Amino acid sequence: MDKKDILSLTLPELEAEITALGEKKFRAGQLFGWLHEKKITSFAECTNLPKAFIEQLDADYFIMVPAVKRKLESKIDGTVKFLYEFPDGERAETVMMSYKHGNSLCISTQVGCKMGCSFCASTKAGFVRDLAPSEMLAQVYGSERESGRKVESLVLMGIGEPLDNFGNVLRFLQLLSSEKGKNMSLRHVSLSTCGIVPRIRELADMKTGLTLSVSLHAPTDEKRSAIMPINKRYDTAELIDACKYYFSQTGRRISFEFALIDGVNDDAVTAKELVKLLKPVSPCHVNLIPVNEIKEREYRKSSRVKEFTKLLCDSGINATVRRTLGADINAACGQLRRDSMEN
Ligand code: SF4
Repeated sequence: MDKKDILSLTLPELEAEITALGEKKFRAGQLFGWLHEKKITSFAECTNLPKAFIEQLDADYFIMVPAVKRKLESKIDGTVKFLYEFPDGERAETVMMSYKHGNSLCISTQVGCKMGCSFCASTKAGFVRDLAPSEMLAQVYGSERESGRKVESLVLMGIGEPLDNFGNVLRFLQLLSSEKGKNMSLRHVSLSTCGIVPRIRELADMKTGLTLSVSLHAPTDEKRSAIMPINKRYDTAELIDACKYYFSQTGRRISFEFALIDGVNDDAVTAKELVKLLKPVSPCHVNLIPVNEIKEREYRKSSRVKEFTKLLCDSGINATVRRTLGADINAACGQLRRDSMEN
């Protein structure tokens, strides 16, 4: 019999499993605390559990603990990039960033990605599989252990499209915000999507409190479909409608990601089109990102970042340029995993 993934179980599920083993229900609460508060890596660490129970846990369950295959730490600002390897040999990237308001962690939600955005290294090697809730949690717990820092906010913006792994992501968020676990408020979590419209609407109805971050990168269907295939399925009008719905249901301002690519989407006409598109969903925020140069593509960083930002702000659209962290360990999202595969 395969061992069960205990870190992916909610407290009620764990209670049902533990009582089925003939143990008292309160033991499940103790165990959940060990797993999610103390973040143990082996059952032997549960000092208040009976020895026979620990042996049974060892026989029937496993704790997801990925190996750290690479760890790069910036000497400039302390940003840390981790490359984790799961028991089946698949790998995911995680980045810990330190800001004035605390430490933020960017996690992956899939191994590879199906979405095919043309500027993104994560999608180049294709899609392999979804990450389990435990594999997302293990990135949080592992990064806290490895860095000695507490994760205060979280972004689901690493490799993968979170809304394409919806069930596992929802379960992960449930575990992350559990009062008896890490107890992180979902108001400190941002979920980034390339625009899977039906899922955005579902998420809006759930009123989880999380911030929705939409990878936009182009303001018209023609330009967006050329760099983001998802736009052929859900066009910009449908996407903006879903964003308006998210704001109306949750009161949470939408954040739009816009990677500025030299000669592709950094001109004054594009800025005007962007203003026109976003006016109906204001107040919103535009995060301008000088595009990561990846070796498989010709894309170059824009030299018009300042002018583009000014055009948006002068038209009443709140826009800021994302600060580059970890410049000395810089690797585009997905590049660390790709390089490790090639090596
Ligand atoms: S930008 Fe996001 S959705 Fe698009 S290919 Fe990369 S990981 Fe996937």
